[in-house]
Amino acid sequence: HDEEASARAAATEANTGAPTIFDKIISKEIPSTIIYEDEKVLAFRDVNPQAPVHVLVIPKLRDGLTELGKAEPRHEDILGHLLHASKIVAEKEGIVDGFRVVINSGASACQSVYHLHLHVLGGRQMKWPPG
Ligand code: 5GP
Repeated sequence: HDEEASARAAATEANTGAPTIFDKIISKEIPSTIIYEDEKVLAFRDVNPQAPVHVLVIPKLRDGLTELGKAEPRHEDILGHLLHASKIVAEKEGIVDGFRVVINSGASACQSVYHLHLHVLGGRQMKWPPG
């Protein structure tokens, strides 16, 4: 069906290493609401929020990290940095006492943008298991 077809198309694009919409967010060509930024990462509000707080945390340099499933030993530092930045975002958003961090990796996890990103979600009671 449609969702699967678009996930497959996005996954195919990912394998080409094509630019994504996040490049334009990093360059600020596409505006976003930035919550946190440092030399390595950018955190901005998701345009289609799934919770009262829904922020995406991304590496400014993709460096092959189209998805978590492509991580290599050289990515360990940036992966740690992204996780710590997620905690800073949770603190800034006032949800550090209870929040969720999600990474969708690959088509069967419904990843749609092939530039690694962490979803920081909170501000409501989260459910388990996720869909
Ligand atoms: P994924 O499904 O790949 O895990 O998550 C991609 C996320 O990026 C989605 O939650 C989607 O709403 C968000 N997104 C896609 N395009 C844009 C955009 O142009 N701006 C912002 N702020 N978020 C976006």
